[in-house]
Amino acid sequence: MDKIIMKTPLVEMDGDEMTRVIWKMIKDILLLPYIDLKTEYYDLGLEKRNETDDQITVDSAMATKKYGVAVKCATITPNAARMEEYTLKEMWKSPNGTIRAILDGTVFRTPIIVKGIRPFVPTWKKPITIARHAYGDIYRDSEMRVSAGSKAELLITKADGTQEKQLIHDFKGDGILLGMHNLDDSIRSFARACFAYALDLKQDLWFSSKDTISKQYDHRFKDIFQEIYDAEYKSQFEQAGIEYFYTLIDDAVARVIRSEGGFIWACKNYDGDVMSDMIATAFGSLGLMTSVLVSPDGVYEYEAAHGTVQRHYYKHLKGEKTSTNSMATLFAWTGALRKRGELDAIPALCSFADKLEQAAIQTIEDGVMTGDLKSLCTLPEKKVVDTQTFLEEIKARLEARL
Ligand code: NAP
Ligand code: MG
Repeated sequence: MDKIIMKTPLVEMDGDEMTRVIWKMIKDILLLPYIDLKTEYYDLGLEKRNETDDQITVDSAMATKKYGVAVKCATITPNAARMEEYTLKEMWKSPNGTIRAILDGTVFRTPIIVKGIRPFVPTWKKPITIARHAYGDIYRDSEMRVSAGSKAELLITKADGTQEKQLIHDFKGDGILLGMHNLDDSIRSFARACFAYALDLKQDLWFSSKDTISKQYDHRFKDIFQEIYDAEYKSQFEQAGIEYFYTLIDDAVARVIRSEGGFIWACKNYDGDVMSDMIATAFGSLGLMTSVLVSPDGVYEYEAAHGTVQRHYYKHLKGEKTSTNSMATLFAWTGALRKRGELDAIPALCSFADKLEQAAIQTIEDGVMTGDLKSLCTLPEKKVVDTQTFLEEIKARLEARL
């Protein structure tokens, strides 16, 4: 078979620890033999970020804006322990945060569905994708403890100097107080990213909040979604045969549990934080959770939802065999290659991505899996293999499909 030729490079963001090891294995075993892989390479490994004062992260995000599609390996977000381990000049910010801020994106998380790994909710047949608004609310709040006898008020000083005041509470006893905000522009970007991604996947979009109680704040989210839908997306949704609807978060929770899956659920920041962990856990394993950052102007960055799997990496460094699940990292690659194939009209690349995903799922369904899946899997015959053997098992099944 001739290697598949690419037109535009993928932005390749390499990362850290065990996922960096897996990254190279995936390329060597499953990609380079079949694709004339064109990438613009950015090393987001912590050493390189430190050496470049984190400029490399900014550069990789700018390149993603330019080319439209990126694939990212998991990276270390430094903490005090990492400062010492890597003798860092500074406690560099989370690369994902930096990239998200530059692309103004929304993160969508979708589980990979495999027979034998049954969701805890028996009605779920298709994946549920969570879209979490990544700005504001309690993540950028101001909080205070308030002592008895205090009067708390909301005070706005407008551009023209005039003020608006509202009583929050007259504290008879000690208590607590929280102020939070969000921005119309950020909510609009979030809404557009959700609508664009729903059209891309051809799946219904749900958005939920608590507008019956929060009549200004949550209601503003609901209104912005509806305005943008009506003005920009309604006819495209109708053409694609998909639906947008808003519902209260409590109703959404009940519907999600009774559903078959196969839709996108957009959530406010805190709701998305909680619900994405619920969905991930209920579907199975962190090793089967994919993630894509979508910007409102249609730029895509694919990655795994998990981290660098540090504990496995230290085993690897000691020369021990690991059994780390490479599915989510592999699906980051296939997602990015398929998107590149769609944008550049290279059907062979899309088809390769499909076949590689099928081969990977088949491998697990044949009972060959990594250690994390063993206890979750209901198949009668299970064989746990090491990180590299798992990829070679996928390769054998891929070759049968090519
Ligand atoms: P983690 O890397 O996701 O791993 C947590 C635990 O989950 C692992 O120890 C492992 O459990 C299990 N696990 C996760 N992914 C797995 C996989 N693919 N296969 C098998 N088991 C898997 O989270 P962490 O240990 O909290 O964080 C490690 C580093 O990753 C941190 O420096 C953090 O900053 C970074 N991080 C990066 C991203 C990102 O780049 N998107 C996201 C999260 C965290 P067992 O040890 O029990 O086997
Ligand atoms: Mg969380």
